[in-house]
Amino acid sequence: MQNLNPDRLYLTTTLRIYKMTDTLFKKIIDREIPADIVYEDDNCLAFKDINPVAPTHILIIPKKQIEKVADAEIGDKELLGHLMLVAGNIARDLGVEDAFRLVVNNGSGAQQTVFHLHIHLIAGREFNWPPG
Ligand code: AMP
Repeated sequence: MQNLNPDRLYLTTTLRIYKMTDTLFKKIIDREIPADIVYEDDNCLAFKDINPVAPTHILIIPKKQIEKVADAEIGDKELLGHLMLVAGNIARDLGVEDAFRLVVNNGSGAQQTVFHLHIHLIAGREFNWPPG
């Protein structure tokens, strides 16, 4: 008979539930829900924000599921750098390279609402500082 360790069982069950709870953005990656995609490669996807706060509002997301910046690990270093380079390329493609803002909300206290790391690329309006 299998040796059932309650702690191990709890961990396995928790991990399984965690993996099952795909975010909205994972569903966009998997084409389960539609999005207006502007760029895709093996590691990331970029699409128009459904509720834009500026004339240009693009979300750039890694295909790897990372909840938020604070959860990124040393092995994600190249991926995070890649997202920044992609943001710059998209800004150039859209002709907004001279004035755009990149925003990453980390945690609900910072207004993160979708827990799959993403960079907001915002452009086409006047910006203020400090941001709200
Ligand atoms: P945050 O508040 O930083 O987590 O940003 C989440 C962003 O996702 C918001 O700006 C939303 O407008 C955007 N969003 C939510 N659902 C969708 C969707 N189905 N397609 C595109 N953007 C979305």
